[in-house]
Amino acid sequence: MTVNTIGGRLCRVGAIALGCEAVMVLRKRSSSEVGIRVGRIRGMEKHGRVFVLTNESDAVGGQCSICHVIVWASGSRNPLLRRPKPAACPDSGERYSEYVAENRLAFLRSFSLCPECNSVCSFDLFVSNITSTRYEDGTERIAGDGVDYYDVPEDEAWVWWLDF
Ligand SMILES: [Zn+2]
Repeated sequence: MTVNTIGGRLCRVGAIALGCEAVMVLRKRSSSEVGIRVGRIRGMEKHGRVFVLTNESDAVGGQCSICHVIVWASGSRNPLLRRPKPAACPDSGERYSEYVAENRLAFLRSFSLCPECNSVCSFDLFVSNITSTRYEDGTERIAGDGVDYYDVPEDEAWVWWLDF
């Protein structure tokens, strides 16, 4: 466990040695810098903001089950999500889906400590450009079809980013 000062606030940062000795460091980045749009769903504004990935972004995230903050990371650089597929695993089908699910679970479990609420192992929802998140207040996932998303430019946000 390391201790970093981020934005003047003392944060404990989970430093996990992966097989490749990578150490993860959490810091805050501007949402636009990492291709994350910040907006609201019409009629659901009371539940807070939603975070949506742009097509150009390679970010993926994990959402905390306690405080609902999302920690983002590069999907193409994350060693847990980019583990070589075992030769015995097919390129599609049920076994492949299990392999993907296992990688995503390993990714979520790699967040040892939530940077917002300090909960341990609280990340339970994998976020990508095809999976939606909960609202900021924890209200369940944003429904797929028929939701009216709009950007709120003044909601430019600083988001947690996991670096390797
Ligand atoms: Zn949390």
